[in-house]
This record gives sequence, structure tokens and C-alpha cells, in this order.
Amino acid sequence: MPLEKYIRDIQGFPKEGILFKDITPLLIDPKARKKCLDILVSSLANKKIDKVIGVESRGFFFGMLIAQELNVGFIPVRKPNKLPFDTISATYDLEYGTDTLEIHTDAIQKGDRILIHDDVLATGGTAKAVCELVERLGGEIVQCNFLMELTFLNGRAKIKGNEIFAAITY
Ligand code: IMP
Repeated sequence: MPLEKYIRDIQGFPKEGILFKDITPLLIDPKARKKCLDILVSSLANKKIDKVIGVESRGFFFGMLIAQELNVGFIPVRKPNKLPFDTISATYDLEYGTDTLEIHTDAIQKGDRILIHDDVLATGGTAKAVCELVERLGGEIVQCNFLMELTFLNGRAKIKGNEIFAAITY
């Protein structure tokens, strides 16, 4: 079955007017999950990667699986005040207000080759903030990697210059 069959549309979540792409049917099915992981990892053939970033919280699921498959380190990028050690943070605009993401200062060494993974590329604000964190710590972004890209929101434009891969596009 195509992967799209395992993504469920939820109208009006988390608030009215939003069509939320729910990945839990994909997570619960081991065959579909493996297929998805294989697609995400096959996009990385012949690329040298030192560490994988997963973005809180849905980026943790496949981010960790990809890191395990590549046998490299995993770095959580988290919402404010969740990481216990020294952090740097990046703040980005939302439709209403702002949001902030943090990373441990010792997570990336200068020149580390980094894969950024999240579940959805929507407007690109989240991914752009993560790119900024990686660059400030001296990492090199090998690819921005997503389960899904909502192409009509043109998030790509915000992270242009980086390689972008999505297993599913809408
Ligand atoms: P962006 O910053 O607008 O690109 O939004 C991307 C972030 O919002 C990601 O971290 C996603 O987890 C989350 N997100 C946006 N839309 C959806 C959705 O339809 N389903 C699940 N997560 C979403």
C-alpha cells in the first residue's frame, strides 16, 4: 500500500481551520513504518552523515530510527526549557506569535555533517530555525528530511540552498 494510506487527515485539529496530517496510523503498522524508513534512508545513499537531528516531538520517531539505521548519533532539538545542559536557541514566527527551539551546545562539533529530520515541512519556519541552530554550532547541513511536505505552503523557500527530501508530498 502507498504510504499516503497511513496518513490520516484530521479536520479542525489542533484548532478550527487546520487540516492536520496524523502519522499515528503509520507508526502503529510495522510494515508501513519500515517501508517509510527505507524510503527516508534511501534518499541518503552515498552521503556521509555524522549525526541526525530530530525535532520535538514528532521528528523524534523517525529521526531516531534513521540514526539507528545509519549507526550515527541522534540529537534532540527541543522546545524551551526541556534540555538540561547548556543550550542555544532560535526563535521563529508563527501565524500568531513566536516559537523557540533549543539544542545542546555540545551536540554538534564544527564540521559535523548533519541530517535534519522532522515529520512535516509546512511553512518552513521550524526547519529554518533548526538550520540556524546547526549553522551557529558550525555544523554542515547535508539534507533537510521530512515524512511529508505540504508543497502549497512553500516551506522550501525558507530553507533554500539546502537539499530537501520528503517521502510524501501533498
Ligand atoms: P512549519 O514550521 O510551518 O513548517 O511547521 C512544521 C512543524 O509543525 C513540524 O514540526 C510539524 O510537526 C508541525 N506540523 C505542521 N503541520 C502539521 C500537520 O499537518 N501534521 C503534523 N504536524 C504538523
